[in-house]
Amino acid sequence: MRDVFLYNTASREVEKLEPLSPPRVSYYSCGPTVYNHVHVGNLRTYVFTDTVRRVLEYAGYDVLHVMNITDVGHMTTDQDEGADKMQVAAERERKSPWEVAEHYTRLFLADVDALNVQRPHVLCRATDHIREMLDLTARLVERGCAYVTPSGVYFDTTAMPDYGKLARLNLSGQEDGARVEPHPDKRHPRDFALWKLDQPTHAMQWDSPWGRGYPGWHIECSAMAMRFLGETIDLHSGGIDHIPVHHENEIAQSECATGKTFAKVWMHAGFLTIGDTKISKSLGNFFTLSDLAGKGFDPLSFRYFCYTAKYRQPLNFTDQALRAAQKTLQGIRNFVRYAPESALSGEEPFVAPLREQFAAAICHDLNMPQAVAVVLEMIREANRTREPRVLEALFDFDRVLGLGLREVRSETTALPPTIRSRVAEREEARVQRDFARSDALRDEVLAEGWILEDTPEGVRVRPREREES
Ligand SMILES: [Zn+2]
Repeated sequence: MRDVFLYNTASREVEKLEPLSPPRVSYYSCGPTVYNHVHVGNLRTYVFTDTVRRVLEYAGYDVLHVMNITDVGHMTTDQDEGADKMQVAAERERKSPWEVAEHYTRLFLADVDALNVQRPHVLCRATDHIREMLDLTARLVERGCAYVTPSGVYFDTTAMPDYGKLARLNLSGQEDGARVEPHPDKRHPRDFALWKLDQPTHAMQWDSPWGRGYPGWHIECSAMAMRFLGETIDLHSGGIDHIPVHHENEIAQSECATGKTFAKVWMHAGFLTIGDTKISKSLGNFFTLSDLAGKGFDPLSFRYFCYTAKYRQPLNFTDQALRAAQKTLQGIRNFVRYAPESALSGEEPFVAPLREQFAAAICHDLNMPQAVAVVLEMIREANRTREPRVLEALFDFDRVLGLGLREVRSETTALPPTIRSRVAEREEARVQRDFARSDALRDEVLAEGWILEDTPEGVRVRPREREES
């Protein structure tokens, strides 16, 4: 196993990952609330989550990845006030919350599949784990960390001496005044519901020792993480906006219940922004992966685009930046598609140091901009020296990058070698902006009965049909 260094939000430092029982790494990442389409800002977080797992696996760890689907109890404010987002969506769409959840879960999975985001080993729905949530809530009530009121069972944040440690909240300050108006049953504005009661019009309800109701959002993640990964997990991640409320509350309720550290390492992905504004549903500036497809973008260009900034930094989304990412990805794919068969046997001497650079980059807190720079350097070097034996290294890197390079290669293995080498040469001519040469090569290929098409996925070659001659 190779050492992996990760920025831990809890310590605010880059630390060497020290799993409890290596090579196993237990990893929990917060999943979507399935009340609407996910937007590209959310998708950046899921690409990040997948990259974390791929990097750890590349480094030799055996990752057990659990992600939740929130299908009940996430209120319209993260601070636990307002209405359940699922209930609001059900009324909006005149469906049951179960149908809404089913519909948007399917769309979510289609999006992440298109981005080559690997499915977690365990994908757990909140509504399938109500029992675990009730058990954890009961434990907190027994330990005096939660109190029962007519409107719900609330976690008592003053019962946890270091409440606020993840976000380093200033609890003595005035900041609570700026928050939404807390429910009058709460003893402290930051207290939050573990179990909601007294909402007879809510469509999803379960019996509990305190009456019929439904779980709060935060308890869901704690209960499911512990159910599948144990009371202390190695790694927990989510979006940066989860730090001050959701993750703070996950820590509080888990650690008060068990007396143990909940997660050893916390990782958070930065926002995707438009201009200087974050993309969010509440701001109405969001768009989806299908919107991008409608503009001629390949989903994997978006994945590649995510690698153009470090995961913790904000990434500014523009059509121009996405187009640039798509163009670079096309270049990589075209190289992979049309490199000669000999590119698969052996390895050029310049590859070994680049392999080392690639591994060093990803294992130092997922430096993906550096990792893709190594990929491009390798292709440049292969073109410059006309020594193409780098494909195996590219396929190896793609275990982390997830750009589907092996699939791209296998699409073209049916092409005659002479055609493939001319297409590769034309790609190189285009990179050198030698358009006369590039046109000449296209004509040569056409004369042999093959048509070149420049598509969002890169150059495609197909046999010429009779009627096209
Ligand atoms: Zn969560």
